[in-house]
Amino acid sequence: MRRPIIAGNWKMNLLPGQAVALVDDLWGMISGQGSVEVVVCPPFMDIPAVSEMIGSGKMDIGLAAQNMHWEESGAFTGEVSPTMLLKFGVTHVIIGHSERRQFFGETDQGVNRKVRSALEHGLVPIMCVGETLKQREAGDTENVIVNQVKCGLFEADSARANGMVIAYEPLWAIGTGKAATALDAEEVISLVRRTVSETLNAETADRIRIQYGGSVNPDNISEFMSQQDIDGALVGGASLKAEDFAKIVRFS
Ligand code: PEP
Repeated sequence: MRRPIIAGNWKMNLLPGQAVALVDDLWGMISGQGSVEVVVCPPFMDIPAVSEMIGSGKMDIGLAAQNMHWEESGAFTGEVSPTMLLKFGVTHVIIGHSERRQFFGETDQGVNRKVRSALEHGLVPIMCVGETLKQREAGDTENVIVNQVKCGLFEADSARANGMVIAYEPLWAIGTGKAATALDAEEVISLVRRTVSETLNAETADRIRIQYGGSVNPDNISEFMSQQDIDGALVGGASLKAEDFAKIVRFS
């Protein structure tokens, strides 16, 4: 039985005080629920304040970075390392979000190095995969997804990978208000699971959690969550409003 995981990706939004206020409001609405693992993903600069808030309020909320470098230290101007994240209580890290692939030149090889490094450092990677509208319309979704999953997990330690998360986020659904249908998402997510089985092994494929992301909101979450292979959601816009995010967390 896989525990659902719902993560809120705040992207480049919120100053530290706003981030802390959002976590405080959110916790007021979700404390007591234990069935879903909840994770917030603030920008780097907000992480110390949010980490302190979560720790001092004894909140059962995971803390994710939105990116990291694979090395622990060195001449990598502008980058943040896994050991730095761990120092601030970070537990999860989004890797290969489509905005990083699109705007910052991230490649499948870079994603793979980051995934392996996160696993080695005891961080839970949330590895994002997804096709563009053009690729979907050309009938390339399956190839694109299989390739991204295979490359992203190449030579990953399967025992460690059991605990990781993959987010299927079709690019055409991100921030557009046009979510995939639950059945379309399930079809691709079950393909992701089969690909994990082929790349690593059947046990890992069974244990790994796979989220859907792309215009998830309080009205459509339960339909996604009713699918057999969908274990949660990566939520962008709706995670910036405590009430909406809390409704998504309390989907059932
Ligand atoms: C995202 O950026 O990961 C995302 C899914 O955004 P939104 O929910 O706003 O579509």
